[in-house]
Amino acid sequence: MPELPEVETTRRGIEPHLCGQIIQRLIVRQPRLRWPVPGQLARRVKRARIGEIARRAKYLLISIDNGTLLIHLGMSGSLRIIKDNTPPGPHDHIDLVLENGSRLRFRDPRRFGAWLWTAAPPETHPLLNSLGPEPLSSTFNADYLHRLARGRKRAIKSLLMDSHAVAGVGNIYANEALFLSGIHPARPAGRISQQRYDKLVAALKRVLNDAIRQGGTTLRDFTSGDGKPGYFQQSLSVYARQGKPCPVCTTPIRETRSAQRSTFYCPRCQR
Ligand SMILES: [Zn+2]
Repeated sequence: MPELPEVETTRRGIEPHLCGQIIQRLIVRQPRLRWPVPGQLARRVKRARIGEIARRAKYLLISIDNGTLLIHLGMSGSLRIIKDNTPPGPHDHIDLVLENGSRLRFRDPRRFGAWLWTAAPPETHPLLNSLGPEPLSSTFNADYLHRLARGRKRAIKSLLMDSHAVAGVGNIYANEALFLSGIHPARPAGRISQQRYDKLVAALKRVLNDAIRQGGTTLRDFTSGDGKPGYFQQSLSVYARQGKPCPVCTTPIRETRSAQRSTFYCPRCQR
């Protein structure tokens, strides 16, 4: 599943090909994604100029003359730039065709992705207006998290994955950051000191930045036609390593499941 680093890497990969270009037309072959692609979308974006490409949580925001395209990759979506009219595959649901002849092609086998439109400022859109701060922004810091957690019995991992608390932190990165900062995932958020929050915030920013950096180097070219999305495997300390030795103390990594999400931790290093 594309996580925040993959979405950010995608943003960086497609931006130079889209920014400043004029849209010739939008081709929607399959409008039934997670939400239906708006019927008016093709008409709205036609002949408009593309401005900046931003990201909020795991949404890509393509700003256009008269509004913003909100794109989510869902479980299996990917975007790439194609320079010619390569015939679409069965899961290539949308092409954004530019006047210069290249296209942004959206592939999504499981169809949990989204292409939506808003004419209002995107931060006021219902999907975005209650999101917490971006994890890589300066507003997301130990003070903020410590204050938010005060008096709360809720487990720290569940707080980290709550998009109202901090936007777009996936399961992999929550698990890894808690390991790196030595915090037990089930520890009540209100019972963690400011100093430990300092470590946690730094660890979370580090794992996300490492993943983005790795994406930038290991990623296939966004203009290649192989259709492979640019997702990548980081070297992970605890995630999906249940039963394997902790990289610090060799105690077997433990796995617990709740609400269909797995938590991985070292019972010795994490308190
Ligand atoms: Zn350990």
